[in-house]
Amino acid sequence: MFALLKELFPICRSLTGKGTNQTLDILSRKIPMNISAFTTGTKCFDWEIPNEWNIDSAIINDQSGRTIIDFDDNNLHVLGYSEPVKGWFTLDELKSHIFSFPDKPKSIPYLTSYYHRNWGFCMAHNDFLALRDEKYYVEINSSLSPGNLLIAEAVLPGKIEKEILLSCYFCHPSMANDSLSGVVLVTQLYQELAKQERYYGYRFLFVPETIGSIAYLSQQKDSIKERVQAGLVVTCVGDPGQFNYKQSRQGNCAVDRITENILKFSGFPYSIRPFWPMGSDERQYCSPGFNLPVGSLMRSVYGEFPEYHTSDDNLNFVTEKALQESLEIYLKVLEGLQENRVYRRTNPFCEPQMSKLNLYPKVGAQKLRDDEFCRRMWILNYSDGEHSLIDIAEKLDVSILDLCDTVKILKEAGLLEVLK
Ligand code: ZN
Repeated sequence: MFALLKELFPICRSLTGKGTNQTLDILSRKIPMNISAFTTGTKCFDWEIPNEWNIDSAIINDQSGRTIIDFDDNNLHVLGYSEPVKGWFTLDELKSHIFSFPDKPKSIPYLTSYYHRNWGFCMAHNDFLALRDEKYYVEINSSLSPGNLLIAEAVLPGKIEKEILLSCYFCHPSMANDSLSGVVLVTQLYQELAKQERYYGYRFLFVPETIGSIAYLSQQKDSIKERVQAGLVVTCVGDPGQFNYKQSRQGNCAVDRITENILKFSGFPYSIRPFWPMGSDERQYCSPGFNLPVGSLMRSVYGEFPEYHTSDDNLNFVTEKALQESLEIYLKVLEGLQENRVYRRTNPFCEPQMSKLNLYPKVGAQKLRDDEFCRRMWILNYSDGEHSLIDIAEKLDVSILDLCDTVKILKEAGLLEVLK
């Protein structure tokens, strides 16, 4: 994952343009993807697909001809979607086109102006303060013209039509944790899940944030509610911070309960956050018209870590270890979702005589019953066709994954059948 992240990191991405195409080309070599294009001007609910933005170079030179800002040094230096510009400007004129964060004086901010025509440069506040009162030569070689916005999908079919949605966004330029960590984790998840037996199918979605998920939803409006069993927006999973789960808007659906259950027994520190209508693409998936069962499992939450949307969200901030731990937790959550079925006793009247089936401890009436026996009793009692496995795991206060082997034993003994 880290190697892929390193390969993708330097590319200048945006909602559209050559950098996004290049990113999807690299990802297509890892996993089979279907790419769909939305042309500029296409209406998607209240939105419209913007022009395609491309940039070749951008500089600011001082009066003596010395280059003081160069897009080639760091792609964050240019305000995303800057229109082209060329000419001499006084410091005062230039100031309204320079963006810096006074509270993070050494970091270059990551800023965009997608829907309002503008041009600008982002720089460390200390460098901004050092600008002398003189004339500067500015040149941004960019273009804004009709083109395409791309969305990529990969699908792993399951036994049934229903799917688990894993959504990430690839529109950020050189940001390692926000955006890219999600892209590499989703790619890795495809590779891991391709090897597994699947009850639900999986849909891996790579979009430019906001406009991409809006375009996708506008195309899938009539079928997506039926199709999505559960979903997660995957981002900010590469930093060493604690896990944070942002619940779906519904707040109590299977993905919410199972993610919390897995985190609780993971040994990692974590917190659970109720849904709030800011953030990433879950804003669209959980808009009232869709209200999909989609949450977001992160480590540090976007907007809250000091490196967020600055040049400090780089390859030093993300670690291989953190990515691996996130992968491990995601795989467990997905396993929990796959295993969360509803069972029914084949004969629900009284307890089965388990000693006949060799399922009862050899010496009866012991004070301490082993955990396995306890799990058997709970599952046999609550497998009434109404309680799902996560219901039982919550009642017993154990990980849902700890119940899977027991279910298998009881099924093989003919005591349980799967209802849904
Ligand atoms: Zn972001």
